[in-house]
Amino acid sequence: MTNNKLHMTNQDTIFGKIIRREIPANIVYEDDLALAFTDVNPQAPVHILVIPKKPIPKLAEAEPEDQALLGHLLLTAQKVAEQAGLANGYRVVINTGDDGGQTVYHLHLHILGGRPMAWPPG
Ligand code: AMP
Repeated sequence: MTNNKLHMTNQDTIFGKIIRREIPANIVYEDDLALAFTDVNPQAPVHILVIPKKPIPKLAEAEPEDQALLGHLLLTAQKVAEQAGLANGYRVVINTGDDGGQTVYHLHLHILGGRPMAWPPG
């Protein structure tokens, strides 16, 4: 089994451990469906991750039944960005799969802000 296959079939990731409070994180928001915490390796002055508590490995594996949850994650990102003071704008990124640059196979939205963002991204 390749590493990638292992990622895709192993639903427990470091983010699962954060949800269960098995490892520490700087949690800035939580509700029944979602959790947000600061990225341990920030790429901008504000870098927060929003994750579903349901362990969807990646966007490409989300199902039609996840429609409401995916909408909830976007509205959570909006709320968390506002709470973080990003009134001047911010970027929301979902890396999906190997070519998308995904390294943790538990769906997550990156909220990046506090500086102007370049386009195109790398
Ligand atoms: P991605 O490359 O899109 O899968 O993003 C994974 C992100 O998770 C990276 O930005 C990492 O810095 C971040 N990360 C990995 N482990 C932790 C952790 N224990 N706490 C907070 N952020 C983490």
